[in-house]
Amino acid sequence: MPIKAWELDPHFKYEIMQEPGGEHLTACYQCSTCTLGCPITEIIPSYNPRKFIQMSLLGMRKEVLTNPDLWICAICQTCTARCPQNVVVGDVLSVLRRIAEKEAEAGNITIESPRPLFEKAFLHTLEKYGRLYDMGLAMEYYPKREGSKIKGMKAMMDDYRGFGMRMFKRGKMGPLGGHGMLKGMRPSKIKQREVMEKIFEWAEEHEK
Ligand code: SF4
Ligand code: SF4
Repeated sequence: MPIKAWELDPHFKYEIMQEPGGEHLTACYQCSTCTLGCPITEIIPSYNPRKFIQMSLLGMRKEVLTNPDLWICAICQTCTARCPQNVVVGDVLSVLRRIAEKEAEAGNITIESPRPLFEKAFLHTLEKYGRLYDMGLAMEYYPKREGSKIKGMKAMMDDYRGFGMRMFKRGKMGPLGGHGMLKGMRPSKIKQREVMEKIFEWAEEHEK
């Protein structure tokens, strides 16, 4: 990828370092230990967390924030544990995602990956029920990803045909509530859900 010097943002690294987890960014000396230990690279050989650090240091703001690979990281923190310079690589990637989401909300960039939509649906489910509810998650995620309810339902059926049926048969997911055969298809809310609500309130306040 050609680097256009006039498009670089020299303040980008400071923007990242102001955020929790991004503080040690400039300590990176590009040894590549993070990439060599990343389990994702076994599945996607082109994935390279070191490159995100390098591009951020160079000020390639737009290229970093619009790169779909930014959303691949599983935040397992293997890279962080191995970094000889104490760069919290997993957290730096989270910081980059948060900046990307804010820029997308402001209409400045487009995020190509559907993962932010999935994460939002996941958190909504957690906030609502206090536990994961696969069916609820899928019903929110697919229509948003596909841009319409009908297309979303079709995509969901395609994806869940084999795996979803196995979950359905075991009472792990389903469209109906009830008991007996249908028990477990709709999650009961956890006890003390107010604790979960407080966690979400706290997170929302600290995000501002
Ligand atoms: S392991 Fe640490 S120092 Fe080495 S490239 Fe990755 S972030 Fe930089
Ligand atoms: S935190 Fe992300 S980049 Fe680091 S090792 Fe895990 S998956 Fe790879």
